Amino acid sequence: MDLGIKGKRALVCAASKGLGRGCAEALAAEGVDLVINARGEEQLHETAAEIAARYGVEVTPVAADITTEEGRAAVLGTAGQIDILVNNAGGPPPGHWQDWSRADFIKALDANLLTAVALMQATVPHMIEQRWGRVVNITSAAVRSPIAVLGLSNTARTGLTGFVAGMSRDVAKHGVNVNNLLPGIHATDRADSLDSAVADAEKISIEEARTRRQSGIPSARYGEAADFGAACAFLCSQQAKFIVGQNLLLDGGALNVSI
Ligand code: NAP
Repeated sequence: MDLGIKGKRALVCAASKGLGRGCAEALAAEGVDLVINARGEEQLHETAAEIAARYGVEVTPVAADITTEEGRAAVLGTAGQIDILVNNAGGPPPGHWQDWSRADFIKALDANLLTAVALMQATVPHMIEQRWGRVVNITSAAVRSPIAVLGLSNTARTGLTGFVAGMSRDVAKHGVNVNNLLPGIHATDRADSLDSAVADAEKISIEEARTRRQSGIPSARYGEAADFGAACAFLCSQQAKFIVGQNLLLDGGALNVSI
């Protein structure tokens, strides 16, 4: 299916690897020119060069911490006016509800709520003006099915979900579609580090931790960044113009609900 977005310009945040990279690759495969971001310069430049060579699109890397005001200014300064925004950042660390301080919450809110809001506030006005735009926020399956040890993530991401629920409906009449993608467990570095945390807590091997976590997924496997990216590209397509303010769960069936 031709998604009809060849020649558009996208900013994909936190995209040197994992789910962000999956989204960047899927958009590049549709002929979308990219600005991609991450903190680590070497990996980011390598990823940008690989995507540009593989798909023949323009890929501009901007090494910066997207959760800081300076980082966002650097990224937005390079990106200029864009048609598509994919919001992403690293997730907060696991822990216990009693241990988290105000500073821990502020950090999580900055990274996984306020950064996405700031980037939408900066880029959506142009999308409204040109009467076309797409925003995809990478959140988490935890907004539908909270995970106790990821309380910082649950808190920040449900806040973003609430924001998007209202804002997406305000901008839809201008041809701007804003939606959230909710990853369940995907085989990325983030999943490896959560496997390690489970292994440490339960005093089992990482392999055993992985087997246990996979056994809770009806698809009996972790998700893949490429499949996640394909869902993102579809939400950015022309055909997605009637999809507004949705929360698409990609979790292999792990959340056991009928609707
Ligand atoms: P990942 O494989 O660890 O990749 C994270 C990417 O984000 C890297 O490119 C990293 O590069 C970049 N990044 C991290 N912090 C950043 C920052 N402050 N500024 C700019 N770039 C930053 O993680 P992932 O699995 O793709 O996860 C992506 C998001 O989905 C996270 O928020 C995660 O919590 C969430 N999620 C993941 C899963 C899963 O199973 N994978 C499930 C639910 C939710 P640098 O480190 O070089 O900056």
